[in-house]
Amino acid sequence: MAWSKALLLLKAQSLGMLLVNEVTWPEFAHQYLVVFIEVKKSVAPLNFLVVGDWGRDGLFNQTIVAEQMGIVGTKLNIDFVISTGDNFYENGLTGPDDTQFTTSFSDVYTQESLQTPWYSVLGNHDYRGNVTAQVAKELTIRDSRWFCSATYQFVRERMDVEFFFVDTNPFVESYWRENNKDYIWQLAISREDYIAHELKNLTTALETSNAKWKIVVGHHTMRCVGKHGETQELFAQMLPILEANGVDIYINGHDHCLQNIKRFDSPLHFLTSGGGSEAWRGRGNNENKDVGLQFYYDGQGFAAVSMAPSLFHVDFYDISGNILHTVNLLKN
Ligand SMILES: [Zn+2]
Repeated sequence: MAWSKALLLLKAQSLGMLLVNEVTWPEFAHQYLVVFIEVKKSVAPLNFLVVGDWGRDGLFNQTIVAEQMGIVGTKLNIDFVISTGDNFYENGLTGPDDTQFTTSFSDVYTQESLQTPWYSVLGNHDYRGNVTAQVAKELTIRDSRWFCSATYQFVRERMDVEFFFVDTNPFVESYWRENNKDYIWQLAISREDYIAHELKNLTTALETSNAKWKIVVGHHTMRCVGKHGETQELFAQMLPILEANGVDIYINGHDHCLQNIKRFDSPLHFLTSGGGSEAWRGRGNNENKDVGLQFYYDGQGFAAVSMAPSLFHVDFYDISGNILHTVNLLKN
C-alpha cells in the first residue's frame, strides 16, 4: 500500500483524546504513520513541557518534578506534554490493567495544568514489559491524557511546526543479541523490516512537510555526554535523514539528565530531557570529546518550550523551579 494511502489523517477542531478514540485500536498504531492535525483558532504561542525517564511510583523525586511541572505548566498555560520514553520502570507495564499506570502516571501528574494531552514515545525499559499495553486503547480510556504509539506525527498548523515521534529502540543492536533476554519485541518481530519501514515513513513524512519548524522526538540519545553516551546506530541510519530534510531539533531522553548540544558540523540542536525521576548517574566516557556541549545537568528536572512563529525558546528547570539554562533558536 502506498504510504499516502496508508496515511491516516485525523482532523478535529481541538486536540482532545476523542481523536484517538475515533480510530480503531490497536491495529492502526504500528502499521501506519498516524498524523494528528490540530487546527486551533488561536495563534497564541505554543507552549509545552518535555519530561523523560520518569515512571517510578512517585519515588526518586518524580513527585517533586511533577509539582514543578505543574507550576510551570500553569504559568505557560501549556498545550501538551511530551514524554521522551522510559515511561514505566523497571520493566514497562505488565498489561493494560497494570496498576503502575495509575501509581506512576495518573496519581503523580495530578496538577491542573498537566491535565492535557501527553504524547509519549517508547523507551527501552518500556520494551522490557508488555509494550503493546502502552499503545493500547485501554490506557487512554483509563486516563484520557495518554497517547503513545511507535511512530506518529503531530502537525500544529497555525504555528507552522510539525513533530515527528519515532521508535528508536529497534535500532540498538545490543538489545537484539541472543544472550539479551530483557526485551520483548512485540512491535518489531523483524528488526530489519521494522527499521526499514520506519525510516521510509519518516523520510517521506519529512520530505513532504512544508513546516517551518521540524522537530523529531525519540527516546535514545544521538549526541550526548551522559552515562549512556551516543547511539551509533542512530548516527548511521537516522541522523542523515534528519540533516537532509531540514530537521531543526532532535529531542530525546534515555540519559537521566538535561542537556543542550549544538555542533559546528550539524544544523541540528540535540536536546535531552530525561530527568523525570532517578538521576545523578555521572557522565559517560566521551566527556572530553568535542561534542558541542552547551549545557549539561546531571540531575532531575524537565524542559519547558515556548514557540512563537520565529522563535523556539527552551528553559531547563531543576526540581526547585530554578531555570538552569535557556536556549533561543530564531528562524525567519
Ligand atoms: Zn532508556
